[in-house]
Amino acid sequence: MYDVVVIGGGPSGATAANDLALSGFRVAMIDRAGRIKPCGGAVPPRAISDFDIPDDQLIAKVNTARMVSPTGRRVDIPIENGFVGMVDRKDFDPFLRERAISNGVTSLTGTFRSIERRGDNPTVIYRDKKTGKDKSIRTRMIIGADGARSNVAKAEVPGGEKINYVIAYHEIIEAPAKSASYDPLRCDVIYDGKISPDFYGWVFPHGASCSVGMGTGVDGVDLKQATADLRAASGLTDCKTLRREGAPIPLRPMDKWDNGLDVVLAGDAAGVVAPSSGEGIYYAMMGGRLAATAVSSALTSGRAKDLTLARKLFMNEHKNVFKVLGAMQNAYYRSDERRERFVSLCHDVDVQRLTFEAYMNKKLVAAKPMAHLKIGVKNLAHLTRIIPATRI
Ligand SMILES: Cc1cc2nc3c(=O)[nH]c(=O)nc-3n(C[C@H](O)[C@H](O)[C@H](O)COP(=O)(O)OP(=O)(O)OC[C@H]3O[C@@H](n4cnc5c(N)ncnc54)[C@H](O)[C@@H]3O)c2cc1C
Repeated sequence: MYDVVVIGGGPSGATAANDLALSGFRVAMIDRAGRIKPCGGAVPPRAISDFDIPDDQLIAKVNTARMVSPTGRRVDIPIENGFVGMVDRKDFDPFLRERAISNGVTSLTGTFRSIERRGDNPTVIYRDKKTGKDKSIRTRMIIGADGARSNVAKAEVPGGEKINYVIAYHEIIEAPAKSASYDPLRCDVIYDGKISPDFYGWVFPHGASCSVGMGTGVDGVDLKQATADLRAASGLTDCKTLRREGAPIPLRPMDKWDNGLDVVLAGDAAGVVAPSSGEGIYYAMMGGRLAATAVSSALTSGRAKDLTLARKLFMNEHKNVFKVLGAMQNAYYRSDERRERFVSLCHDVDVQRLTFEAYMNKKLVAAKPMAHLKIGVKNLAHLTRIIPATRI
């Protein structure tokens, strides 16, 4: 009999399990294992400090972000006061799971099947990877952290059966030597309708390797061809391909994260990925932490209603950033003309400071009033086409 069973051992599940074990609860974590999560691996400083990500997990420390427009204009944004860390999910997820295990979590390898309720407490059924047989464990509470297309969300939480996604695809390639087109300390973000009609493409350095990919929610786009085109445009066609992989990225947080009884969702399972960037690792870890807070509160008070705390606390902190990012995506990711204008806006030092502060530290900071005014005017001038798309 456990206090909590966490289903999924990615960033959200491993964080939730670790926090609960550190608070003295009996925790089991079920992960199906055997697949490396496809991911660009970029994490902001706030993730590194909030979740004690050790330096040896960072395979690159990026100091510049390059925005590339549909006509090939490039804006290099220096990352002031810090760096963007890159993790390799091949090592990062096992590290998070090991940390949770070392703090007392029981790790089980298998695939979640269902939740049954016969007595007072639920029973989680999972297919044990070693024996291929179904096993059951009794628990008081359950955290569903089984990623996008979560089976726990589908089975337990209203709305979980109809989450919208974009599909992201990337290739892990051997990193080339530093050159005019590739820099191991720079992330390239490509806004070009030929690469992605509604999202973006990227080249993210991973030390000895590199992630090149794109995402889209538009049916019929050939993701492999788009990535091949991106590799060609970035001079990366001849690099050896190490892995090819794709996965869904959810589009918006679900309206409800718990079942009002004994289940709460975290991370991609709850639909939590930042609009516009698709950033999910930090939000998954924070979602895991808040799911742990909610479960711990419900277990202590005996009130299932406390499970709603996970979403409430998350939204209090991040709703505004999500709103601004969502508005930006709606305004600028819809045509090449708009993408061209977006890259023009990125020339502005105040735009760079504001957006990077929001990314790095997860806060919308109040800048100088004149800077806000100037950004507002420029934004309006671009959206109403008063100025040419390439005017900066
Ligand atoms: C191509 C791509 C690139 C991305 N790049 C970035 C990036 O650069 N930076 C960033 O911040 N975010 C990025 N993201 C998003 C990020 O990867 C996710 O938001 C993040 O991994 C979510 O963490 P999670 O723990 O909620 O889910 P996941 O990482 O998906 O973990 C879910 C876990 O649950 C397990 N699981 C699933 N189903 C079951 C089951 N039935 N039974 C048992 N276990 C199960 C899986 O094995 C997995 O370990 C990217 C996503 C994609 C697809």
